[in-house]
Amino acid sequence: MMIKPMTTPAPRRSARLQQLNWPHLLLLASLPLALWGLRDWPHAQVLALMGLTALAWLMLAERLWPLRADWQARGPELIRDGGFLGLNALVDSVSAWLVTALVLQASPGLSGWLANLSPWLALPLAIALGELGPFALHRRAHRGGWLWRFHSLHHQPSKLNAANAVLAHPLNAAWNQAARLLPWLLLGFSPDVVLWGAVFMQAQGLAVHANLRGSLGPLNWLIGSAELHRWHHSMIESEAHNYGTAIPLWDQLFGSYVYRPGQTPTRLGLFATSAPLGWLPACCRS
Ligand SMILES: [Zn+2]
Repeated sequence: MMIKPMTTPAPRRSARLQQLNWPHLLLLASLPLALWGLRDWPHAQVLALMGLTALAWLMLAERLWPLRADWQARGPELIRDGGFLGLNALVDSVSAWLVTALVLQASPGLSGWLANLSPWLALPLAIALGELGPFALHRRAHRGGWLWRFHSLHHQPSKLNAANAVLAHPLNAAWNQAARLLPWLLLGFSPDVVLWGAVFMQAQGLAVHANLRGSLGPLNWLIGSAELHRWHHSMIESEAHNYGTAIPLWDQLFGSYVYRPGQTPTRLGLFATSAPLGWLPACCRS
């Protein structure tokens, strides 16, 4: 179970949050163009290429416009995060294959049910539904129990950056992938809408962890941002909410939305002083 910290430092005000977080906005704005340019490529390759490109862009932007110098990823951490990137990419692929096979086996008649829905309706619906399962499991994980034992790995670092966005236990990655894909497959969204939703959620999953200065302003009410997600990693349990990643909708509906313009939590990391299962060696916990 989570243990409250011994001290409760006040949130930190940062002038660097007054400007626009344009690297995040540019990333999102480039997604439709990239999807159009790669429209003839296999979907799995599009997702992988766009994920790696988004990560490279955010890591470059963090070097040029960081929010905090002490949150930059360093050598051993980059090696650790590279390992988890490869491992969880494999886990995502296997999970997607298993979930798809199970759905096709169990409910072949449901396939394609929403395939003809207008993309203008289908994409927001797919994103909202794709976020709901991981949101619910994430929120449940923070109440403790075995879900928290695995999810706590993601909270072990005391800094946030795009590289350590991928730091998650493989089981955590697997349940997120399954929860995201299940409604998409059961409701039969078109393959294009599934790809667009997955690309958006993948980019958001990286961008909300990025150590970038700036704000998304009023967009914080519509989409996930680093400003919002940093609160989730706060060491202070009472403010560590915002369980959603791509969009804040479910946090807003279920009362766990935290938005404090111009402020960041002072200390990030686990509520306890050590990980429940000690997932990471001492060299790689920052
Ligand atoms: Zn969490």
